[in-house]
Amino acid sequence: MRKLILVSHTHWDREWYQPFQEFRIRLVRFMDKLLAILEQDPDYRHFTLDGQTVVLEDYLEVRPDREAALRQQIRAGRLLVGPWYILPDEFLVGGEAIIRNLLRGHRIARDFGAVMKVGYLPDPFGQTGQMPQILKGFGIDTAVVWRGVPADAIRRSAFHWRSPDGSAVLAIFLVSNYCNAYRMPAAVEPFLDRLARLRATLEPYAVGDALLLMNGCDHEEAQPELPALIAAANARLSDAQVVHGTLPQYIAAVRAAADDLPTATGELRDSRRMQLLPGVLSTRMWIKQRNTACEQLLTRWAEPFLVWNTSVPMTPAVTTEALRSSQQLLGLAWKHLLQNQPHDSICGCSVDQVHRDMAARYDACEQIGEAVAGEGLQMIADRVRTTDQHNVVVFNPVSGPRTDWVEAWVPAPQGTRDVAMVDQTGRIAPLQVLGEKEKVLVSVSLDKESMREMMDWTRQGMVGGLDGGAITDWLLKQEGRTIHVEILVTPGARPNPEALRRAGAALSAWLADPQVKSFQVQIRHVPQAQVLFLANDVPGYGYKTYTIGPDLRSNVSGNPTQGPPPPAIRNEFYRVEAAADGALTVTDLETGTVYAGLNRFVDGGDAGDEYTYCPPAEDTLVGTAATSPTVEVIEAGPARFSLRIAQAYRLPAHLQADRQARSPQMVECPIVSTVSLYPGVPRIDIRTEVENRAGDHRLRVYFPLPFQVDHSCAEGNFDVVERPVAAPQGGPDWVEQPVGTHPQKEFVDAHDGRVGLLVANRGLPEYEIVDDAAPWGIGQAIALTLLRSVGWLSRDDLATRPRACGPVIPTPEAQCLGRHVFAYALAPHAGDWRAVFPQARAFNSPLRAVAVEAQAGDLPPAASFLEIEPASLTLSALKPAEDGQGSILRFWNTAEELVEGRLRLGLPWQRAWRANLDEEHLEELPADADGWLHLAVRGREIVSLRFV
Ligand SMILES: [Zn+2]
Repeated sequence: MRKLILVSHTHWDREWYQPFQEFRIRLVRFMDKLLAILEQDPDYRHFTLDGQTVVLEDYLEVRPDREAALRQQIRAGRLLVGPWYILPDEFLVGGEAIIRNLLRGHRIARDFGAVMKVGYLPDPFGQTGQMPQILKGFGIDTAVVWRGVPADAIRRSAFHWRSPDGSAVLAIFLVSNYCNAYRMPAAVEPFLDRLARLRATLEPYAVGDALLLMNGCDHEEAQPELPALIAAANARLSDAQVVHGTLPQYIAAVRAAADDLPTATGELRDSRRMQLLPGVLSTRMWIKQRNTACEQLLTRWAEPFLVWNTSVPMTPAVTTEALRSSQQLLGLAWKHLLQNQPHDSICGCSVDQVHRDMAARYDACEQIGEAVAGEGLQMIADRVRTTDQHNVVVFNPVSGPRTDWVEAWVPAPQGTRDVAMVDQTGRIAPLQVLGEKEKVLVSVSLDKESMREMMDWTRQGMVGGLDGGAITDWLLKQEGRTIHVEILVTPGARPNPEALRRAGAALSAWLADPQVKSFQVQIRHVPQAQVLFLANDVPGYGYKTYTIGPDLRSNVSGNPTQGPPPPAIRNEFYRVEAAADGALTVTDLETGTVYAGLNRFVDGGDAGDEYTYCPPAEDTLVGTAATSPTVEVIEAGPARFSLRIAQAYRLPAHLQADRQARSPQMVECPIVSTVSLYPGVPRIDIRTEVENRAGDHRLRVYFPLPFQVDHSCAEGNFDVVERPVAAPQGGPDWVEQPVGTHPQKEFVDAHDGRVGLLVANRGLPEYEIVDDAAPWGIGQAIALTLLRSVGWLSRDDLATRPRACGPVIPTPEAQCLGRHVFAYALAPHAGDWRAVFPQARAFNSPLRAVAVEAQAGDLPPAASFLEIEPASLTLSALKPAEDGQGSILRFWNTAEELVEGRLRLGLPWQRAWRANLDEEHLEELPADADGWLHLAVRGREIVSLRFV
């Protein structure tokens, strides 16, 4: 007896071909009707609300009076909600964001009465390999997926899906997508016909007796006539029964069948049976860049340093309440960020208005994140014991010890030329002054009476107002009958009572002196210098203090290395030279490997749409500048050595009207790269600025390899994914031809076992290993996509994807005209990526610095909030626990094998537990006598701990 489980649902893309507010009006009407059906018809059994809880918030914001009704249906199990907050794209958001999404979704769904414990992922454009492990971390042991399931390996409607760490879930494959039974006919005969056709499609794939009929689709409303149709059908069917049911019911039936199921391991990105839409990795690149920056701001800066502050006895000025409110502010920042992560939003595949709305959400996330991070760093800096008058605390949010550059504004009372940074061992850091500022707040001539008032006014040692701060010095000078008084103010500092006392005594004497007639008073900020310096061995997940002293550079033994004559730069690791065509030749001084032709820009046409790259039938590639590039060494140390390569590419303005070729009309696009080396840093940082004046094209930067590779290693979510270089062969039966472009997080690496090249990036998630023999003599190269410019949401005339996958709507802003800045870095190395991946982390999280004055404090000059070993264990989060009880530390093992790890938290704590991703306690962990926790960590395992 067949069991036809009809799951009524809707797939609610929150914003897509209409902006959010327009879709929300539809959501409100839809929910009103749905609640009415559930209230009026007990035979309308269940409705599944798309696995995401943001729709509850969106509805109740407009209809708060319907909250009780909503809660009642959820508690009764008729309306199924959760486990997600939003349905993300799994490759464009970070692993930690996937966890936060589930945490928020669970909290909301629980609050409403029940969480649907199903890993419902009906629409994301492929599945990330660690999803089974993440779902299991929330006690979810099933997934429901459609796109990406491998056609050759999986020919059943269920399979075991395994993560690289070995975790597995029962995955339901939506054979004919999540809409197979939408808009069921309203009359009995056609209804039965449709059921028969569905059975014919699904039975070859069936596991057990149950078949899954998904009664809904994108923004589809509930069908009130369904219960009557089901009753009528059941009266007629002899070999099947139709059930108005739920996903958990169907999954239970599949599980009970205990069939021998096939297994798929890791990421699912097969496009033979359903579209994967891989072009979204590079559509509207600014979205990917901002998402990465926001995720890192929250997880690497705002949260860990907030936790550090919550873990110590409070000074009266810092209350627990203030820290609690910071935690809640970060919750709001995450909410804005998560609302930008639904697949249609972060993929960039919506109408222009949607993405304009996203910019405002990124702004909100960034404003909150920066404020909380800035406050957190300042609070820690204010607790560091210092003996010298002026100091800088340098913070490092990734592993260490780390030598890297840092920029800071610091007081330079002796003038900006004479600033030096000295660490606790007396070592002087290589330093460059980048800029200076000096601000006069008041300049006035006073008589004796007014001078007395002025002294009264400054007695507390503070100057109020917007530009105010503490008075840190008085400089006095007599010139005939006039006394020149300079009052130096330092924002954020404490007043200097000694300076005030000395000045008071001298001024009292002059006030009593009949020869003195007037006082020329100037109140000004202490001169500030913007400096760039090399911080050396900054502890991992911690900080190190430098003293700002007068320049003692003559005492430094050995001058900083001078670069060779232009146009080349070098440090102890690499030599970088610019060729006449603007490309770079890099010599790895450790291995002797020479990499030639790096940083070449290659531009081709794109006749595709927001979802899919498609070269025009007759493509024109541009790989060299129109005229000779200008190359100059713009910085020659001692802290930074930089080459600037300015060039202009002449690109076809757009596609021809027939879209078969690029236009003969050309536009000039300036491309300026700044390539920097720092002493002690094994990394080549590149910043490229592009003024995009062309449409319908794809701009990539190439890094040719001096060796052959057959696979690439790219960071994924809690994973490093090894992919073959050769793309699978497509064919006429593929609904979308396979491509060589792939997703990445912070780096991609190509190596031959002996040496290799790691390319790190900030928010540039698309790469390909290309093999372009012509026309520039490039063999294999890592290609990093910078821009993909298209003018259509979707089209139906692509050679690479025949069918449209959304409405055919023009999207002129997806051409991404205007100025763009891209950041990436190179790390040629011996061995493989394991040797250098911390440089990708470091590149994504530049050190930050905070200036402090002489102060007593409870923290030493250098400290870590976390020591963790071995180096393959990398931090993902240190955050306040959702329930406010202690904090959650999360890390993952980049190694593929089991490691014996140990870690020590540099914050006070009483008890520690292993926890699941939902922050529930597992076993308690005892510390050894030195405070270390010891644990065995599987290859690619994600580990969460709770400290109280
Ligand atoms: Zn969707």
